[in-house]
Amino acid sequence: MMSRRTILGSAGAVGAAAVIGASAARAEPGEEPRPPAPPASELSPAAALALLREGNQDFLSGGVTTVLTDAQRRLELAKGQNPFAAYVTCSDSRVPPELLFGRGLGELFIIRNAGNTVDTVALGSIEYAVAVLNVPLVVVMGHESCGAVKAATEVVTDNATFPGSIGPMIEPIIPAVLQARGQEGDFLENSVRSNVRRVVKFLREASGPLLSDPQASGKLRVVGAYYDLDQGAVDFFDVPDDIQAVVQY
Ligand SMILES: [Zn+2]
Repeated sequence: MMSRRTILGSAGAVGAAAVIGASAARAEPGEEPRPPAPPASELSPAAALALLREGNQDFLSGGVTTVLTDAQRRLELAKGQNPFAAYVTCSDSRVPPELLFGRGLGELFIIRNAGNTVDTVALGSIEYAVAVLNVPLVVVMGHESCGAVKAATEVVTDNATFPGSIGPMIEPIIPAVLQARGQEGDFLENSVRSNVRRVVKFLREASGPLLSDPQASGKLRVVGAYYDLDQGAVDFFDVPDDIQAVVQY
């Protein structure tokens, strides 16, 4: 069977089409890579969220799952990055944001640590994404069966201790676990969501002017999310009303 590359090549495709064909040759037959998102400066927070929702839908349905990684795209990005969202999530190997949202090089500015907490280093990274790169959206995402949050629940329920720097690392999660204790439903999931809510609240209200000013003017929004490992679905929650509606970008 002829590959897409061969078909495009024999048709004499040149320039961008040939580049797309070369990338698509590694994808499923007929599947073309997702085009890069518009630059951050052209996207509202709602539009950035819509892009992520759309990407996760494709991930779930087996739609467009390949992205441009060719030389032309790399050369373009070498001149400067223009990601459309900053992403705070867990280091867990099962939750890589680019894969869950079908996004490629230069599109997501990602901060990861076990338990998706925000310390000074993480906050500085988010502030850089907002103040210098002008991202319109910050997502804080927890996930099902998070080991770091589970460890924090064990501190609360069993006085568990952990070696090395693991104990201090999970300390910021403990208040979230305490808030979740006694809630109806699954204790670990409630703790993960509570941890996300606390981080979102901090970024909205207590992190300083680099994040509060653009939020006051409507240029920036912070949302929470929960990733279900079995389903592959990302549930966005704690989404401000003004960007709740799914819009086209
Ligand atoms: Zn985790």
